[in-house]
Amino acid sequence: MKKTCKKCNKLKLIDEFVENKRCVDGYEHRCKECRTEYRKRYKRQYREKNKNDVLAKDKIYRQKNKEKITEQARKYRAINKEKMKEYARKYYSESPRNREKINLCHKRNRVKLPDYYIKELIARSYGINFKSITPKMIEIKRELITFHRLTKELRNGTNSARNQRT
Ligand SMILES: [Zn+2]
Repeated sequence: MKKTCKKCNKLKLIDEFVENKRCVDGYEHRCKECRTEYRKRYKRQYREKNKNDVLAKDKIYRQKNKEKITEQARKYRAINKEKMKEYARKYYSESPRNREKINLCHKRNRVKLPDYYIKELIARSYGINFKSITPKMIEIKRELITFHRLTKELRNGTNSARNQRT
């Protein structure tokens, strides 16, 4: 048995249609392919129309499942470690613009010393698990870095370097 899709007008095998008792011949008038396409577009349109709602819902979901999501991300990173490294290397080497972007990011991190950056530093240099790093440790490490830089500047007798940075 064959049927013509009302959407793409192609004659297709009945297997290509979803059964639906409410339809006259027991099958939907759109083929599966067109149906999927339609649903995709509908979903996208819905998300666009209800952007704020969707964003708010996503946010609530993330807050509720914070640990689950972190755990999933951690697992993903552990499994795909090499792949991600390779991707980062490729991304870095592919274009000067990417390189510039990354360098800028590093530079900004070194100046601003955000929490995640310090966390990474602690984890890497002391071999500590991310989870066991407390806000207090981050605070101390941040001060240590600042202290270290200050002593370095004083040792080099280049106070001007500090003034330039600010
Ligand atoms: Zn179709």
